[in-house]
Amino acid sequence: MATIHNLGFPRIGKKRELKCALERYWAGKITQSALIEHGKTIRAENWAMQAEAGIELIPVGDFAWYDHVLSISMLVGAIPSRHRDNETLSLDTHFRVGRGQAPTGSACAASEMTKWFNTNYHYIVPELTKDQVFQLSWFELFEQVKEAQQLGHTAKPVLLGPVTYLFLSKCIGEEFDKLALLERLLPVYRQVLSSLAELGVEWVQVDEPILALELSGDYRQALKISFNALANNGVKLLLASYFDSVFAYFEDIASYPVEGVHFDCISSKQDIHELDALLSDQQVLSLGVINGRNIWRSNLEEIVEQIEAVATKRREYLWLAPSCSLLHTPVDLEQEDRLDNELKTWLAFSKQKCTELTMLKNGLATGDRAAIVAYSAPVKARLNSNRVNDRAVQARVATLAASDGTRCATFSQRIKKQSKSLPLPLLPTTTIGSFPQTQTIRDARRDFKAGVMSAQDYHNKLALEIRNTIKEQEALGLDVLVHGEAERNDMVEYFGELLRGFAFTEFGWVQSYGSRCVKPPIIWGDVSRSKPMTLEWTQYAQSLTTKRVKGMLTGPVTILCWSFIRDDIDKPTLANQIALALRDEVVDLQNAGIQIIQIDEPAFREGMPLKASQWQTYLNWAAYAFRVSACGVNDETQIHTHMCYSDFNNIIEAIADMDADVITIETSRSNMALLDAFERFEYPNDIGPGVYDIHSPNVPEITWIKELIHKAAKKIPVQRLWVNPDCGLKTRDWKETREALANMVEAAKELRTEFK
Ligand code: GLN
Ligand code: ZN
Repeated sequence: MATIHNLGFPRIGKKRELKCALERYWAGKITQSALIEHGKTIRAENWAMQAEAGIELIPVGDFAWYDHVLSISMLVGAIPSRHRDNETLSLDTHFRVGRGQAPTGSACAASEMTKWFNTNYHYIVPELTKDQVFQLSWFELFEQVKEAQQLGHTAKPVLLGPVTYLFLSKCIGEEFDKLALLERLLPVYRQVLSSLAELGVEWVQVDEPILALELSGDYRQALKISFNALANNGVKLLLASYFDSVFAYFEDIASYPVEGVHFDCISSKQDIHELDALLSDQQVLSLGVINGRNIWRSNLEEIVEQIEAVATKRREYLWLAPSCSLLHTPVDLEQEDRLDNELKTWLAFSKQKCTELTMLKNGLATGDRAAIVAYSAPVKARLNSNRVNDRAVQARVATLAASDGTRCATFSQRIKKQSKSLPLPLLPTTTIGSFPQTQTIRDARRDFKAGVMSAQDYHNKLALEIRNTIKEQEALGLDVLVHGEAERNDMVEYFGELLRGFAFTEFGWVQSYGSRCVKPPIIWGDVSRSKPMTLEWTQYAQSLTTKRVKGMLTGPVTILCWSFIRDDIDKPTLANQIALALRDEVVDLQNAGIQIIQIDEPAFREGMPLKASQWQTYLNWAAYAFRVSACGVNDETQIHTHMCYSDFNNIIEAIADMDADVITIETSRSNMALLDAFERFEYPNDIGPGVYDIHSPNVPEITWIKELIHKAAKKIPVQRLWVNPDCGLKTRDWKETREALANMVEAAKELRTEFK
């Protein structure tokens, strides 16, 4: 009979208890031993939840105080010297690496963090030197294994594999081949495995998610060397791959001396018989048949059909699991009281996904399918539901043509018309959209949502804030103004709440980094706009000034990337639905006299598939969806877009393909490294490379801003340059904002005389 296991469980707790405990500890409100107790309780609850749901092998080591990659750095002692206070590591060391500070020790720059593969989770990038020494330095994993065993669980420790660990790290000091460190790292991993064996552990899960990428020969070789070294250390090894197909490495995988292999059967179609044939009868085949990255209830009936034959054949050598760790899924659907009952029957969070595995196992063991059929019925009903399917939306998307994603005129023709109807100086100044979200606004929104502030009062507060924001911008002398986004809490949630087809949970949090969590909306049905979403406030702001106010929307790709999306339609179709809803908004804004409209796409880069060979397909549909949202307008209407959070150098062609009249883009943190891209590609439209980093409280100096613009003007004709910060200002306070923007405006003024 198949064994069911789990690759990892969300570590934040049902109600974000970990966040709460961490932040209280960091603020000095609880002691370290209290924090440790909270961690223990969360782990015990997580294990109990999984065990009660029927999971047989419980993952241990998936819990992390800040990040699981950082946990490995602690385990192997790869901690930068600036974060250490002495030879031994402590919990505060962990926090210093992650946040740059901890209740003890001195503050120092945190390590960098970056996206964990194609998820919205961010890990701490290990910093390794050429002469890096690795040494078993942190013993928490062993403590947690004992903890789980004492609670009666069969612990299956989870380790991020050494090759992925090296792949994700960065070289400090002189460049060197990171793989050269493997031979020093492997002995520590071996030591970890034998210590786990001494604790009576039978199976250890070794995650090597880089197998989902397109690997060079040296990484393939390193994986081989690694598994050869890790084998025969007293435990059985389960290699876990996930996030995409590993088809290209089937032969390699078959040659590893491991006792089992886990395959993700969700992220790409897998031929289960082929997987079965790949492994010997004495190896465990673990099938990730439940989606670990979304929130939909599984169609168990379909899954049973797919795996039945292999299950009968492999018996205890078949394991079933979610496709990847459940880190990317909220904890428990049962907590959601506000979702309607029908919608709830379509959903499954982490705990429910564990139960699904048990139902599969039972169905396979007994041959009795009644429970599975009943459970799967709502999934099938969802596909045909009138609530989900909006024929009008589907028909509109089906008739989309290339011309819907094309402006009437070329950029050079448009910009001539725009400069007539929109007289702007050389090097026009603008901002990215949001202005400081003051405590007054946050309090008002909270009170309004809680029902203690009337709609009228809330409305008045927003109006006041917008009036003030316009006044401030006029006083600063900015050229293109914005209304400031006071009415928005979050750039996706705001639109999701107004669009049809979206739902919002109360506790559907997933970890983004450290103690930070996000609550992505759920897109469950065809998306459409029932009424204008931004018209009123934009028009109001425009009525207060003779300068141009820029309308402000979140783009289709970003809305898609930051939501839990449907599994029954493809991403391009969904992106086009959202794009059409936004297109109507764009046209409404134009018809109401708004001549400049910005459609933000900060997530454009992060939607990229893992495999480079699939990038172009993505970029094509993503740029098309953007253009569908933007191209319903006249030549005179100026479309802006904004991007941040990533490195755009290698997708600059795709950005040009979006054909926005103006792009404002993050560059200041990298000291305009983006400009390197213009060596090989001449960006054709207007561009505003961010001239200062809004993430820092430091006020940029005029000379510094001028220098950056000079740099930019060497690569891009000054007639096509804009001057703006690198992102929205909502997290800053007014004092800093005023000072920074005043310097920015002054720098632009001085340069105008210079360039005349
Ligand atoms: N318009 C948004 C803002 O200014 C853009 C946010 C973003 O780029 N993440 O806040
Ligand atoms: Zn931004």
